[in-house]
Amino acid sequence: CVARRTGETYARWTPAFDERSSEQARLGAQIRHGLDTGQFQVVYQPIVRLPECRVVAVEALVRWRHPQRGLISPALFIPVAERNGLIVELGAWILETACERLARWTAELGPLAPDRVSVNVSARQLARSGFAASVAAVLARTGLAPHQLTVEVTETAVFEGGPAVAALHGLRALGVRIALDDFGTGHSSLGLLQSVPVDVLKIDKSFVDRVTEAGRHAVIAEAMMQVTSGLGLDAVAEGVETAEQAEVLHRLGYRLLQGYHFGRPAEEPDFTVRAVHA
Ligand code: C2E
Ligand code: MG
Ligand code: MG
Ligand code: MG
Repeated sequence: CVARRTGETYARWTPAFDERSSEQARLGAQIRHGLDTGQFQVVYQPIVRLPECRVVAVEALVRWRHPQRGLISPALFIPVAERNGLIVELGAWILETACERLARWTAELGPLAPDRVSVNVSARQLARSGFAASVAAVLARTGLAPHQLTVEVTETAVFEGGPAVAALHGLRALGVRIALDDFGTGHSSLGLLQSVPVDVLKIDKSFVDRVTEAGRHAVIAEAMMQVTSGLGLDAVAEGVETAEQAEVLHRLGYRLLQGYHFGRPAEEPDFTVRAVHA
């Protein structure tokens, strides 16, 4: 498929920045200010289906455009927002923004619009009482059908069970799809599948990176595909950067692919990615 290589670069940080607690507190206060002054933005990365390379879904990814510091990585500020609780407000805004955006694309683009949007939800959001009800309210406000929304959670978010798993059952009852993100990097990947309602496994980029080398990575990627299809789930391979990786994954049975090879996260992604091979 066609590769798109325009893109974004995060600002550089000194390692000391994210470790000192005074800096964490400062960053926390700046997140609050950023929320109040509209510094956050949601971008969307295509998830394509082979062999035709249709953009069947997009993943919503938050961006922070800091007026002085430039573009800040969510890997840096999401953990801070989780610790100070602002993730609840930030996450609610991201969810609503992403659902509104898909509703608009559907209205404007018809069949060219993606079928679904995926939204990352952190452990702290998920464990908050009433989370499933708040999702139902967003769906009602935006007019999205439940199956048009996928909630992405990490293994660690649901590892401890309790309220987070109860929330997943609530989402499942609504008809919202549930994806296990960064699959294979947590502590209990396979065990979790016995107890947690899941529709999609997102195979972590670390497996995709070396899938073209003969050896254990390809074997693991193939085994993950067998588990996925055996359980009747969908698999999405994350972080696909080259045509070679896409070809190997396709051969192993992967049909849903996401990565820079197909498109970077963007405010208005290109939904007309066309197959040039595969
Ligand atoms: P994730 O959910 O696993 O998202 C995939 C990350 O991989 C994104 O980084 C995406 O830009 C990046 N990516 C996609 N394709 C490629 C590729 O081909 N090569 C490389 N090198 N990277 C690729 P991003 O946007 O920086 O987000 C990092 C993480 O921050 C996310 O990982 C997710 O855990 C978290 N995050 C991002 N947005 C949100 C959000 O709205 N809410 C929450 N709770 N977490 C978020
Ligand atoms: Mg994700
Ligand atoms: Mg991931
Ligand atoms: Mg990740």
